[in-house]
Amino acid sequence: MASRKFWHDLLFIGLILLVLGWEVSPLQAQSGKASSGDSPIAIVIHGGAGTIRRESMTAAMDSAYRAKLAEALQAGYAVLKKGGSSLDAVEAAIMVMEDSPLFNAGKGAVFTRAGTNEMDASIMDGKTLNAGAVGGVMHIKNPIHLARLVMEKTPHVLLVGEGAERFALAQGIALVPQAYFYTKRRWQSHLRGLERERARRQKQQKGGGTVGAVALDRQGNLAAGTSTGGLTNKMSGRIGDSPIIGAGTYANNRTCGVSGTGQGEYFIRLAIAHSISELMECQGLSVKEAAELVIMKKLTELGGSGGVIALDAHGRVAWPFNTEGMYRGYIGPDGKMVIKIYKDE
Ligand code: ASP
Repeated sequence: MASRKFWHDLLFIGLILLVLGWEVSPLQAQSGKASSGDSPIAIVIHGGAGTIRRESMTAAMDSAYRAKLAEALQAGYAVLKKGGSSLDAVEAAIMVMEDSPLFNAGKGAVFTRAGTNEMDASIMDGKTLNAGAVGGVMHIKNPIHLARLVMEKTPHVLLVGEGAERFALAQGIALVPQAYFYTKRRWQSHLRGLERERARRQKQQKGGGTVGAVALDRQGNLAAGTSTGGLTNKMSGRIGDSPIIGAGTYANNRTCGVSGTGQGEYFIRLAIAHSISELMECQGLSVKEAAELVIMKKLTELGGSGGVIALDAHGRVAWPFNTEGMYRGYIGPDGKMVIKIYKDE
């Protein structure tokens, strides 16, 4: 016969578990940890937003972009599939695009007004809210990797210029000469930009080709990263939104991961990436509602142009942009790959 003590003890243990449950859940929520280990995996990338029109694209260029976007997606997805972290996936996908002359990041970075290449990048971990970034680096082949090292090996979030490059050397990263970043296409758009400026016809400096990635791993952790050469013919020393956490990049397991592309000054002024996360957390908006509100309404109303990729903790994707096109692609929880370039596809 079950004694009265048995029932008493059972009740006592039950009460303890209940109290612990109440205590532990909010803490778990705060660390943003979803450690089930069987979350859906997903990755979304962009290769920049801008004046990307079907009629001004050759068939060869169109397929070169799609092939490189597919390669970047596959590189990131392979990491996620074998149980790797979303941070590793983001870094792998971005490095493929940084190594390609097609995009305005790493190898294909645009030129400043002074004829130099000055790159920005950042990465953020949605589980811990740790972040790392570099600004204005001139001799780093893969700025996203250096941003990751800033996050993991320093007590800081953002290192710029020479200091960032000294840190790279100390970490065993070989510096590359500026000549590495020379591409005929970007040099010609630099010269055309200078010409336009001389003729005072240039209203807004153009970007385009910035790269970014957001990934969700099996542990339910989100990460986001962005890498860019900035705007064509920007002033030397100008830092855009891409290395600014909350502007061009943000990730939080409780909401979403975001990477932006467009006129960085507007993205900084509107704290675009963080705003999307905040609208989800505080107003209960879905990732699509939040991203669209911020890009199609707030950014557009302020007169800025660009777009974002955003991914929530369930693997739902949003990618609003108010430009003619945005190089973009994702592999969702169903494992299917989607790649798009123009507005009307
Ligand atoms: N957002 C980048 C910057 O302002 C440029 C771009 O995305 O095209 O530096």
